[in-house]
Amino acid sequence: MKTLIVYAHPEPKSLNGSLKDLAVSTLTKAGHEVRVSDLYAMRWKATVDAADYGPSASSPLRVPKDSGRAFETGTLTPDVRAEQEKLLWADTIIFQFPLWWYTMPAILKGWVDRVFTYRFAYGVGEHSAVKYGERFGEGTLAGRRALLSVTVGGPESHYAERGINGPIDDLLFPIQHGILYYPGIEVLPPFVLYGTDRTTGDDWPDIAKAWEQRLLTLETTEPIPFRRQNFGDYEIPSLNLKEGLEPAGRSGFRLHVRA
Ligand SMILES: Cc1cc2nc3c(=O)[nH]c(=O)nc-3n(C[C@H](O)[C@H](O)[C@H](O)COP(=O)(O)OP(=O)(O)OC[C@H]3O[C@@H](n4cnc5c(N)ncnc54)[C@H](O)[C@@H]3O)c2cc1C
Repeated sequence: MKTLIVYAHPEPKSLNGSLKDLAVSTLTKAGHEVRVSDLYAMRWKATVDAADYGPSASSPLRVPKDSGRAFETGTLTPDVRAEQEKLLWADTIIFQFPLWWYTMPAILKGWVDRVFTYRFAYGVGEHSAVKYGERFGEGTLAGRRALLSVTVGGPESHYAERGINGPIDDLLFPIQHGILYYPGIEVLPPFVLYGTDRTTGDDWPDIAKAWEQRLLTLETTEPIPFRRQNFGDYEIPSLNLKEGLEPAGRSGFRLHVRA
């Protein structure tokens, strides 16, 4: 595998840092190529502005169009081009981050905002009355697989079906479906550690074992079976799921996962 690890934690000695280090050593030892984008260490600029698009920036700024023009003319900033190149190089992408306010840290969201530009990650393919682009199962990043490795402060019960925070699959849906599956990446079931603020050094051996096991079985792990946009499950152009495809009683985000 050619694995890109996108890592978002400010402290190298954090639990997240240890998980990232273990991923690098485990995958390297198993003969895989590994590259790391350590966003805090890189001092990643997390906000979009006109400077991102150089001569392609219009006034007033139009982020989708300007980012697409900059992508197509090769005038995106070198930091963004480097991350796009890493994504095209990789066949596997691991995102390592703590759950902050129910989602990824802002620096990682800012990586997505700047790297997943128009014409690269969205605005790809024919947009007409019969086709709404190549996305959700197709797109620039098709053929790649991604895994979220997330540490969570609260206990697992808080993220269960009836838990106060809502099911973890629902919280991760905007990332797994809205960001990763959108440009065509297949998404593997996440590796989630709960109750991490109470984790101690004694817990580390079990955590490490479970993480190594996931890392060494990445190639054979089945992705989440999200429904593909352009292969018959959705009405076009409304992009509503066709009636009756879902198992009885299913609703919400899970409608978009095949039975
Ligand atoms: C802004 C913010 C928002 C948050 N929002 C949420 C939220 O919405 N929902 C929620 O549930 N939680 C939330 N949290 C909690 C957060 O998810 C956890 O603090 C985080 O996941 C813990 O990961 P860490 O890498 O920062 O852990 P660290 O603080 O680095 O470590 C956690 C514990 O693991 C121990 N540890 C054991 N082994 C190791 C090892 N080998 N290496 C390093 N440490 C080890 C450490 O000693 C420490 O006690 C939030 C926290 C912040 C700061």
